[in-house]
Amino acid sequence: MPQTSISCDIPEIRITAPHDVMPNMSGEYVLYWMTAYRRTDSNYALQRAAQWSEELKKPLIILEPLRVGYRWANDRMHQFVVAGMRDNAIALQKENVTYYPYLEKKRGEGSGLIEALATKAAVVVGDEYPCFFLKHLPKWFAARASCRYEIVDSNGLMPLRIPDKIFTVAHSYRRFMQKQVDTLLAQRPLTKVLSHFQLPSPQPIAKEILRKWPMAEIAFNNKPFDWSDFDIDHSVAPTEMVGGRKEALRRWKNFLSLRSIRYDEDRNHPDTDGSSALSPYLHFGHISAHEMFFDVLEHENFRVEQLARPNGKVNGFWNVSPSIEAFLDQLLTWREIGFNQCFLDRHYDSYRSLPTWVRATLQKHAADKRDYVYSLAEFEEARTHDPVWNAAQRQLVKEGRIHNYLRMLWGKKILHWSRSPEEALDIMVELNNKYALDGRDPNSYSGIFWVLGRYDRPWGPERPIFGTIRYMSSDSTLKKIHLKKYLKNFES
Ligand SMILES: Cc1cc2nc3c(=O)[nH]c(=O)nc-3n(C[C@H](O)[C@H](O)[C@H](O)COP(=O)(O)OP(=O)(O)OC[C@H]3O[C@@H](n4cnc5c(N)ncnc54)[C@H](O)[C@@H]3O)c2cc1C
Repeated sequence: MPQTSISCDIPEIRITAPHDVMPNMSGEYVLYWMTAYRRTDSNYALQRAAQWSEELKKPLIILEPLRVGYRWANDRMHQFVVAGMRDNAIALQKENVTYYPYLEKKRGEGSGLIEALATKAAVVVGDEYPCFFLKHLPKWFAARASCRYEIVDSNGLMPLRIPDKIFTVAHSYRRFMQKQVDTLLAQRPLTKVLSHFQLPSPQPIAKEILRKWPMAEIAFNNKPFDWSDFDIDHSVAPTEMVGGRKEALRRWKNFLSLRSIRYDEDRNHPDTDGSSALSPYLHFGHISAHEMFFDVLEHENFRVEQLARPNGKVNGFWNVSPSIEAFLDQLLTWREIGFNQCFLDRHYDSYRSLPTWVRATLQKHAADKRDYVYSLAEFEEARTHDPVWNAAQRQLVKEGRIHNYLRMLWGKKILHWSRSPEEALDIMVELNNKYALDGRDPNSYSGIFWVLGRYDRPWGPERPIFGTIRYMSSDSTLKKIHLKKYLKNFES
């Protein structure tokens, strides 16, 4: 008798069935549709698909597509994703699965692929991601799915469905998270997912499917891909940051063994930049928050007895070194509060999602005189009067990232020098998501909306334009943080 559920180690709260029917027992295979967790390890969705494959004794196909028709699709993002596909192709070479990387070249060419593959599938398992166009995929596909379709939440330590409200300040989210610590410590996807299962022999993709949607030829080297034939924005060039799991793990090991010790001191200074620079890898799913969390705890020889009572404070809960306490706060509180917002608020990316007090104070100052007003093009080309701001924008355009402290200043000044807060929001979203490798992420919206007051409180004195929204200036930034080298690096 086919079952709609199988016993598994994946917490049920992470599995949802948008098309909740029995597996199709005459289906030929189980299909894993990889769209957000682009990795072969530490991935609950792949784990779920492998479980179905073992249980139903049907081969596993992994489809990793990259389409062109999404907003901000450009050479930079595509190069990063393709590097991840290469790593997946290598990792899966010796596994009992069929890996099917697909690159859409022209808009619409990829349409119909997932439906065609699903026709012969027993079960389709997909990733659940609460932001950008991926947020809407499950509803779209559920209306078309011809077999059982499940989505799995492997985003972070806190399952998306545990909080039943949107948290408006970090302190209350942190306290909530600390109270769930037993759950966080108990849930961990398998590190090496596929080696855990007895999978049937792989099945080749049907010829008629490959004729219409040829498998991407992913070179097993790091050479830049030729994107000229692809319907994407070629004005945003790839950066030196190489995507993929191999590079993510290299950076992560390097951070853990060398740089994490000074994270709390070095992180805020662009000249020493002690942060992990892993946000693009987290964004594209090349590394998981789970592996980072458990590695960090192991690195600190953490024992459960060290835990303090939940108090919502940044320090003193995990009772590990100050640097790691600070790092865990970014990973568990600041990263995951954004997932909470995107998951529960369908207006997460619109101005109206801001708290009432924020909109009221910005509205009160909407007509205030602005000494400087720049257009999107002037911001984009770093043509403001402020060398610190221009340097940050140049780093974004060139490297696809901005140092975290300067990213806050970058946003605050866009608010300061735009015609209105609504226009400032549009400009931040456009520039961040177009150039930042970690853009189009729940954190993108946390950061950008934080600039406008989300997760914050009113700050005095009340000022022009900002009202009681927290203010930042380049002068005070120059006094507080070390950025001489940084300014030199990005002076033109
Ligand atoms: C205007 C603005 C826009 C932003 N846009 C993005 C974005 O598009 N994508 C993005 O991932 N982050 C964004 N952030 C948050 C933050 O700047 C980056 O997460 C951080 O700089 C990434 O660098 P890192 O990986 O070296 O972080 P680390 O300091 O090494 O921290 C580890 C991880 O914790 C999380 N994290 C760290 N700081 C924050 C933070 N302030 N908010 C949320 N999560 C955090 C990230 O996942 C990060 O990779 C934005 C912040 C602002 C102010």
